[in-house]
Amino acid sequence: MGSTNDVDGVESAGRPTREAIIDLEALRHNVRRLREVTGVAELIVVVKADAYGHGAVPIARAAIEAGADRLGVADISEGIALRAAGITAPILAWLHGPDADFGSALSAGLELGLSSEAQLERVVAAAAGLEGAAIPVVQFKLETGLSRNGAAEADWPALFAAAARAERAGLVRVDGLFSHVSNTSSADDAEAAARFERGVAIAEAAGLTPRALHLAASAAALGEPALRYDAVRLGLAVYGLSPFEPDAAPDRTASAFGLRPVMTLRATIAAVRRVEPGAGVSYDYSYRTDAPTTLALVPLGYADGVPRSASNTGPVVINGRRYRVCGRIAMDQFVVDVGDDEVAVGDDAILFGDPAAGAPRVEEWAEAAGTINYELVTRIGPRVARTTKGAS
Ligand SMILES: *Cc1c(COP(=O)(O)O)cnc(C)c1O
Repeated sequence: MGSTNDVDGVESAGRPTREAIIDLEALRHNVRRLREVTGVAELIVVVKADAYGHGAVPIARAAIEAGADRLGVADISEGIALRAAGITAPILAWLHGPDADFGSALSAGLELGLSSEAQLERVVAAAAGLEGAAIPVVQFKLETGLSRNGAAEADWPALFAAAARAERAGLVRVDGLFSHVSNTSSADDAEAAARFERGVAIAEAAGLTPRALHLAASAAALGEPALRYDAVRLGLAVYGLSPFEPDAAPDRTASAFGLRPVMTLRATIAAVRRVEPGAGVSYDYSYRTDAPTTLALVPLGYADGVPRSASNTGPVVINGRRYRVCGRIAMDQFVVDVGDDEVAVGDDAILFGDPAAGAPRVEEWAEAAGTINYELVTRIGPRVARTTKGAS
């Protein structure tokens, strides 16, 4: 006893009962592969949201080892946590609320993606309040169609004029200009790129000389070569998943791009019972057995990120055989009907992982739940142990 992996009295000798296995060798492979495929000078590996649920620190380290040039995060706090873990690579943070702590960001040596002149002024003021601080390195995010953050086109002339004045005064260095596209269609993305280039021209006319221009996240980096510019910001693809929906783009799977899924989600089967025909399964009895059969209990539920909307559909592999969830997915657990197959307490249930290793694809779960692969991996809950393998 004394194990923290105790579920209903079942212990798994040292193996976490609920586990997301993170394959760092696959991660490094994907980073190298994406360098090859995109051919860009600079790879910005996006590790926001705890590296899409994979664990920001080990993923950031592995990405740098494999040649990533820079890390991208949304929040300043995410960048500061990476610095606290000893990561010294350049880190760009680009989404800031009105209370964002630019002083702490600059003290941690973060680069800041800014969306307004007000933010620029706050960064300059924060730097002035720091003893012997380095000149802040900033990039500007331009709004080119998504209607999210980024400086609006009408504000570009004043913003870039102010930035050029600040740069001449030695108060900031404007290192890059970037935007983000909607992936609605090639035509929509091209229109966003044209708008972006109008912004770049205005910035240059104001006297700015940005080192890097970047527009593409995974989808545009893989699907729109013309939008790669100097750098690409890659999130989902480095985790070995395709940003394209399987229905819309059956030929643009992760394996077609030579990418390997990094996360495998598994659990140790916690109970097995033989039941009679007509047995109800889980809340609401939305599943009833129609023959004598064996039911296996998988200790993962919606609190662990397994979507309840995939009840009665999500795929599970046990001992190399494929089954479906039967009945409702509950907070902590769900049930699989394995028929007359031999399944024992302690066997592995694999929800998703690398299809080359026989695991269901995370996209099958996404389809079962009516969502996308991004949402599934980022919502794995805190009870699920992250175990890394392939550390170099
Ligand atoms: C999250 C994010 C990315 C990465 O997107 P993927 O589709 O996961 O590659 C890139 N750029 C910005 C601005 C983002 O917010």
